[in-house]
Amino acid sequence: MKADAGPEGSYVAGGTDLYPNMKRRQQEPRTVISLMGVPELKAVGQTDGRTGGRADGKLEIGACITLTELTARPPVRLIAPAVVAAAELVSTPLLRNMGTLGGNLCLDTRCNYYDQSYEWRKAIDFCMKKDGAICWVAPSSPRCWAVSSSDVAPVMVAIGAEYVLTSATGERVVPAARFYNNDGINYLTKQPDEILTAVRLPAPDGWDAVYHKLRRRGSFDFPVLGVAAWVRWDGDQVADARIVLGGVASHPLEVPEAGTALRGSRLEPEAIAKAAEAAFRPAKPMDNTDFDLSWRKQMTRVYVSRAFEELRARAT
Ligand SMILES: Cc1cc2nc3c(=O)[nH]c(=O)nc-3n(C[C@H](O)[C@H](O)[C@H](O)COP(=O)(O)OP(=O)(O)OC[C@H]3O[C@@H](n4cnc5c(N)ncnc54)[C@H](O)[C@@H]3O)c2cc1C
Ligand code: SF4
Repeated sequence: MKADAGPEGSYVAGGTDLYPNMKRRQQEPRTVISLMGVPELKAVGQTDGRTGGRADGKLEIGACITLTELTARPPVRLIAPAVVAAAELVSTPLLRNMGTLGGNLCLDTRCNYYDQSYEWRKAIDFCMKKDGAICWVAPSSPRCWAVSSSDVAPVMVAIGAEYVLTSATGERVVPAARFYNNDGINYLTKQPDEILTAVRLPAPDGWDAVYHKLRRRGSFDFPVLGVAAWVRWDGDQVADARIVLGGVASHPLEVPEAGTALRGSRLEPEAIAKAAEAAFRPAKPMDNTDFDLSWRKQMTRVYVSRAFEELRARAT
């Protein structure tokens, strides 16, 4: 169907991102192909379709599972509570009943100059992400700075999940981090005809992760900052750590220096402060989402600290 539809065809899952975008004419597919009638895309378990684990201990989750179903599945709650926490923070119960994991991981990037009605965008002569020539956030910039606003994507990158992509030519598996581009327009590395069929969570072998989200309204709002923090414990010491920020770039932004600051520590306050400082420096939010930009940058320190304090508390 996608081959027949060509570039004017678009996949849809829950439609909670695509349909509002179509109403605003940000995306204008002529053919919309629903993935929701394929039962295999909603399976949770292993590739052989039974209920145990994969031989490598990874848990495979079909991309078309709704966020509500995802958060209710015992194996996901057991292996990756951070994925559940992030999914539970997406939007509202109604949207989580429709919205899927795959749609969340492929979510369009967002910007105050783009997420507007057609008439609003026309009044400013549009922008380069759709129908226009320049970027209103950075007028001399050759690229679009629209922001990665998925809650679950930073967690998937932090925990080292893998995405299974399928097209007529076959299947390939990519690390979550390689699925995203730091470009507001071409924000995914997947080919247009590829379907994200499943996500593989790593085996539970001593790692833990949490997700913290900054937004205006606690009841529902996109993240203006998301912090996914991951550690692998070796006894009471941190063998490895990763910090991935959402809402501050066009892709989930990993800050390797912050992870380095925590290796070998026991998540003492001094080590956490160093990691928070390291995460603060590359976090360069643009003035195209909610809140004052410098305050959002300041909050990176606070949220990174809180995330690792929670991980320390869980370990003890
Ligand atoms: C008011 C409101 C508030 C929201 N708040 C949040 C929030 O706080 N946090 C957040 O993360 N999101 C939020 N969202 C966005 C959205 O509801 C969720 O991200 C949801 O999970 C998207 O899933 P979906 O299945 O509805 O995606 P769809 O709209 O069906 O698809 C989104 C995009 O992904 C593509 N796609 C979907 N599935 C696949 C697949 N399996 N393979 C390849 N491509 C695919 C589609 O072609 C489309 O481009 C909000 C939306 C609204 C309307
Ligand atoms: S960052 Fe610039 S080009 Fe991208 S959506 Fe916003 S105004 Fe448009």
